[in-house]
Amino acid sequence: MGDAGPLSHPPSLPLRVAIIGGGPAGLGAAIALSALPSTSVQVQLYEAAKELREIGAGIRIGYNCWRVLELLGAAADIKGHHKTGIYHRNGLTGEIVGRTGPGPVGLEVRYQARRVRRTRLQSSLMGRVPRGVIQLNKRLKGMEDLGDEGVRLRFEDGTETIADLVVGGDGIRSVVRDHIFPEHSIRFTGTIIWRVLVPVSAIKHIPELTVSTSWWHGPAGHVYHSFVDDPEEVEEGERMIEIAARNVVDPETVKGKTFSWGVPATKERVESHFVDYDPRIRELLSKPEEGQWKEFAAFAGPRLEKLTGWNKIVLLGDASHPLSGAFGSGAAFALEDGWILARAIEYTRLRSEPLAKALDIFDHIRSPYYLRMYEYLDGMKQKVVDAKKADPTATFETSLKARMEAFGGEEALPWIYRNDIERVWEGFLQEQNVPNGSR
Ligand SMILES: Cc1cc2nc3c(=O)[nH]c(=O)nc-3n(C[C@H](O)[C@H](O)[C@H](O)COP(=O)(O)OP(=O)(O)OC[C@H]3O[C@@H](n4cnc5c(N)ncnc54)[C@H](O)[C@@H]3O)c2cc1C
Repeated sequence: MGDAGPLSHPPSLPLRVAIIGGGPAGLGAAIALSALPSTSVQVQLYEAAKELREIGAGIRIGYNCWRVLELLGAAADIKGHHKTGIYHRNGLTGEIVGRTGPGPVGLEVRYQARRVRRTRLQSSLMGRVPRGVIQLNKRLKGMEDLGDEGVRLRFEDGTETIADLVVGGDGIRSVVRDHIFPEHSIRFTGTIIWRVLVPVSAIKHIPELTVSTSWWHGPAGHVYHSFVDDPEEVEEGERMIEIAARNVVDPETVKGKTFSWGVPATKERVESHFVDYDPRIRELLSKPEEGQWKEFAAFAGPRLEKLTGWNKIVLLGDASHPLSGAFGSGAAFALEDGWILARAIEYTRLRSEPLAKALDIFDHIRSPYYLRMYEYLDGMKQKVVDAKKADPTATFETSLKARMEAFGGEEALPWIYRNDIERVWEGFLQEQNVPNGSR
C-alpha cells in the first residue's frame, strides 16, 4: 500500500457517504456501510431510475456470491433453480459436445450454484437497506472536488449535495468514473445479448429443453437456457425459463451507433441471428411474445490502474472493472467490493485513521484481483488467436471440440468461483498483524 495522502476527512466526524447507483454494487455497499454506527457513517444512495426495477432475466449465484450475500444478511430469501447437469451442444446439429456438473463434490447445498430471477436478488438486497437511505430519480450529472470540504454532487433535477466519500456504483457507463478518470473510455465489444423469461409451460413440448441447463454453441454466438425457479417457491404453472441468446461480430465491421441496454428487441431481429440453429432452438426463440425480448450491447474498457480518486471517491462493481459480464459473476464482484469497502472504513475509523487510508486498503485488496481477471482474459484471447494461426482452415466443429476440451469449467478458476471474501479480509488483517478475532 502507498502513502494514504493528506487527511481528507477528520475521523472524529461522521463520514457523509453518497452512493451513486442502486444495482448490486450500490445496494451491497448501502447495506454494509449502514451497518456501521451512524455516529461514524451516514449513508445516502442516489439512483437515476424512478423505481428500482432489475432489467435482465436470470442471474447465476454461486459460492462466492452466496458467501457475500450471507455476510450482508441477504442470502436466506433468495431461491431459484438448483443447477445440476449442464450440457454443451453444437447449436446447429444439437450434438452434445460437453457436459459439466452436477457441481463440486463436498460443497454444502446452500453454497451450490443456482440460477435465480434477477428481481429476487434485487428485492432481497433492497429489503436490507434501511428506510430513508435510497433516493430515486436522482441522476448524477456532475461532481466537483472541494478539497477538504468533500465533493459537491449535482443531479439532473437541479439539486446538489456534499459528501465526504462518493461511492461510484453506477455501472459500466459510470459518470463517477468519467469524472475521476476522464481519459478512460469503453467501447462496443461486438457482442449483442438478448434476454427473456418465458413460462416453462410454453416450451414443455420441445424435446429435451426442459431436462437441463444447456448451451447451444454456434459459429458466431450461442443460445443458453435455464430454469430460474425452485419448485418449492413457485407453483408449477408459474415457473419460468430464461433464454439468453448471444451474437458476436467483429466490432470493426459495425457501422453506426450500437448502443442498447435493456431496450426491447423485436422477435424478428432476435430470430434472424439464429436461422441456422437446430429446429428445437428456433422453436424456443419463437416462443417469447412480441415486446418481451430485451437487448444489451456489451461494452468493455481497459483496466483501471486504481479504483479510487481525489482521496474521496471509490469505484465499485461494473464501474470499477468494465469487463462486460465476463466470468458471469459480476454481481458477486460488485457485492464483494461493497463489503470490503465497509470493512476498510470500519478498520480505519476504529484506529482514527483518515479516509484516504481506507481507500488505499480497498484498492490494495481489489485492484490486484481485477488485474488477475484482465490477465486471464488476455490469455484466453491469445489462445484463440494462436489456434486460428495454427490451423486457419479449422471448421466450426473442430474448433468447438477444441474449445470444449480446453474448457476447465468453474473448477479451473477457484480464485473466482470459490472466493470467500471474509477470508480475504482475514488475510489482510493477518498481513497487518492484527490479532485473531480483532477488527
Ligand atoms: C448479459 C449479462 C449477463 C450477466 N450474467 C450474470 C450472472 O449470471 N451472474 C452475475 O453475477 N453477473 C452477471 N452479469 C453481470 C452483472 O449483471 C453485473 O456485473 C452487475 O449488475 C454489476 O452491478 P453494478 O451495481 O456494478 O452495476 P449495475 O447493475 O449496472 O447498476 C448500476 C446502477 O446505477 C444506476 N445509475 C447509472 N448511472 C447513474 C447516474 N448517473 N446517477 C445515478 N444512478 C445511476 C443505474 O440505473 C443502475 O441501477 C451479467 C451481465 C450481463 C451484461
